[in-house]
Amino acid sequence: MRIFKFGGASVKNKESIGNVKNILIQQKFEKGFVVVSAMGKTTNALEEVVKAYQENQNYLAMLNEIEEQHINVVKELIPEINSVFQDIINHVAEVKTFLSLNKSPKYDFIYDQVIALGELLSTKIIAAYLNHSGVNCTWLDAREYIKTNSDYREGKVDYETTCERLQHLPKDKIYIIQGFIGSDDNNFTTTLGREGSDFTGAIISYCLDAESLTIWKDVPGVLNADPRHFAKTQILNKISFEEAIELAYYGATVIHPKTLQPLQHKKIPLLVKSFMHPENEGTKIDDFSEQIKPQIPCYIVKPQQIVLTISSKNFEFIDEKVISDVYKLLTDFKLKVNLIQISAINLYLCLEDKYTNLESAVELLSQKFHVQKEEFCELYTIRNADSKSEKIIPKYESAIIKQSGKQTLQLVIKKEA
Ligand code: ASP
Ligand code: MG
Repeated sequence: MRIFKFGGASVKNKESIGNVKNILIQQKFEKGFVVVSAMGKTTNALEEVVKAYQENQNYLAMLNEIEEQHINVVKELIPEINSVFQDIINHVAEVKTFLSLNKSPKYDFIYDQVIALGELLSTKIIAAYLNHSGVNCTWLDAREYIKTNSDYREGKVDYETTCERLQHLPKDKIYIIQGFIGSDDNNFTTTLGREGSDFTGAIISYCLDAESLTIWKDVPGVLNADPRHFAKTQILNKISFEEAIELAYYGATVIHPKTLQPLQHKKIPLLVKSFMHPENEGTKIDDFSEQIKPQIPCYIVKPQQIVLTISSKNFEFIDEKVISDVYKLLTDFKLKVNLIQISAINLYLCLEDKYTNLESAVELLSQKFHVQKEEFCELYTIRNADSKSEKIIPKYESAIIKQSGKQTLQLVIKKEA
């Protein structure tokens, strides 16, 4: 059995949904799971709804707009199928009812009950369209299959129950199912974290011992550099699971490690292919002994980095005690360290302040140490660096920190103001 996953960009309008159907036919996809994200930027729009609700703004108008956008796609795609209009109205109404009755002050809980709407709507439309076009399929509610704990917005999957439920389904059908969403023991909706649809694909693949998971994207495959930062990029044809996890760790955003782990565990290959050019090979991530093919340098950028230079107030060396005290404090403040360099009297840390705790942390650190702070930095990581690759990094001569390991060269560079 194969599992296909289509992201928001691949189902954003009438044309792209038509393209999904063409891919299924062209790929002879006659049984298996099709995991689908919310259309286009719907999830972002729903985040705004949650925000408006919390701030007592007019969230209903925003929900109506989302409803209208989906209705318009149905009008263009399958105007003759009235039941889909009703499905859309019902799903939106369910969210409205939830919000009007809700007494919970818990943001993350409310978020998940609302945000799942995007995937529910997109899958309803796609399933109806496919059935209408002769590709017979069955719509499933992921919340009946993907079971998680109650960590809203970051549900941890209960693989045992999830696998058991999925295994009960007949194997000879095409199923259309939402990515990203699941439910907890009380059947409240949970989500797996933003961009979690790939992960849903991996969970289903794992549970059903799929032969492969294919993620259809608006890029030709996994590239050796982010085209938003680098003029020249090249597609990677093959990547080992280990190398893919390394690349993701350093900030490559294409595939999340969370998605790779269940696949690696069962040695299920992951294919990343272009939905514009489904005939092209794309990238295959598998249990390869070779790290990467072609063997070329890979460039990864992590934006929004801060460099702290920490030194003792009484000229003590940076020793184990200092490092462990500093790390303890950084852990408490959820500051994530991406690179560390130590000299006799200076500790350099390149870190990320996801939860805006930096100021409080620096204040505490400053009681014991001299602390210098450099904001607006970027961390460049080059895997398989060769003698020329450093020079591709803008302003590489002015790196604040430079570190080179066996396979990895890293530079922290202050961004132009
Ligand atoms: N729709 C969700 C998001 O945008 C999940 C996904 O696209 O993977 O985060
Ligand atoms: Mg999305």
